[in-house]
Amino acid sequence: MENNKPVVVSGARPTGRLHLGNYWGTLRNWLDLQNKYDCYFFVADWHALTTGADKSENIAENTREMVLDLMALGLDPAKCVLFRQSDVKEHAELTLLMGMVTPISWLLRNPTFKEQLQELHKAKYKGQEDKMKKAEGVTKQLAEAHGEDAEATALHSDMAVIGFLGYPVLMAADILLYDAKFVPIGKDQLPHLELTRDMARRFNHMFGAQVLNEPEPLFTSSPLVPGLDGRKMSKSYGNTIFLGEEAKSLEAKVKKMYTDPLKVKLDDKGHPEGCVVCAFHKLYNPDWQARETECREGKTGCGACKKQLIELMEKEVGGFRARRAELAASVDVEKVLADGAARARAVASKKMAAASKAAGLI
Ligand code: ADP
Repeated sequence: MENNKPVVVSGARPTGRLHLGNYWGTLRNWLDLQNKYDCYFFVADWHALTTGADKSENIAENTREMVLDLMALGLDPAKCVLFRQSDVKEHAELTLLMGMVTPISWLLRNPTFKEQLQELHKAKYKGQEDKMKKAEGVTKQLAEAHGEDAEATALHSDMAVIGFLGYPVLMAADILLYDAKFVPIGKDQLPHLELTRDMARRFNHMFGAQVLNEPEPLFTSSPLVPGLDGRKMSKSYGNTIFLGEEAKSLEAKVKKMYTDPLKVKLDDKGHPEGCVVCAFHKLYNPDWQARETECREGKTGCGACKKQLIELMEKEVGGFRARRAELAASVDVEKVLADGAARARAVASKKMAAASKAAGLI
């Protein structure tokens, strides 16, 4: 890696198996970026705990799976620094320092905090509202105190842990430790990056030193991939196709995909907008436009469209499975992560020392 390339930092949480939404939405960009920039990509295991401390038994296994998935996609530890966040303790150390300059009000204003918290709270206590009211102690008090006020209930729930409120602080540390010039994000994530920039400015201002550099967004174009049911593909909706989906289950899943409900017979005129099969043709079929025209004109049926899609997808997914199996047998994941952590630490420790000095500690 050359040292004069701009630095890019990005992470992914090991909260489950990677799916095609993750690939088209984020990971495909990583493959491009590793060729152009000095990239630090990390498995964000501390971030996984911010909303999933009760599911922590899967983090280690998910981390291993994620590294193999990323490498099978083409991420090359020789071209980028690939590491596990918790191996580089400076991420935690800088988080602590950043916490000293970050007003709680900034975090409470973060729109995704309240939204996500309510989702998490609803999911955890789904169907248990009555039970909560009948329960003893804090849970009962909560249900009674806040009644129908979902936001207040969520804010006072046991899901609202400090780590979750403070995840933008950890995110800022992740980025600032490496002097990232660019952080690849979608437009919706801009407020989070703005927070990182605000924190860096405040740190420099408070401690009177130009130690932390403000990163810029790198807007990456990525399609929003629908899941089998037409909603956004997401592991929380159970509508995903995994990167290495087995041939049989790939076929079954494509057959189950949501299609235009108005197209019942083969010669009914179809509406590709909103049809999941058509959305996937766009991703996997270079001739997708011809397919859409045939669909609109009622010249093809959904069965044929799915059959072709299964063949096209199996070619890519099958190739991935083969590479993945080869890597699983030959790659020492812990060694890859240890090498990556050593390279990351070499950079992070210098920045941490400068930040500590600025804060009057050393
Ligand atoms: P999930 O919704 O399955 O929990 P994550 O929130 O872990 O997925 O997503 C990780 C990254 O993958 C996000 O930054 C997002 O940009 C991308 N991503 C996830 N699902 C999709 C999707 N359906 N379409 C496009 N990008 C997606």
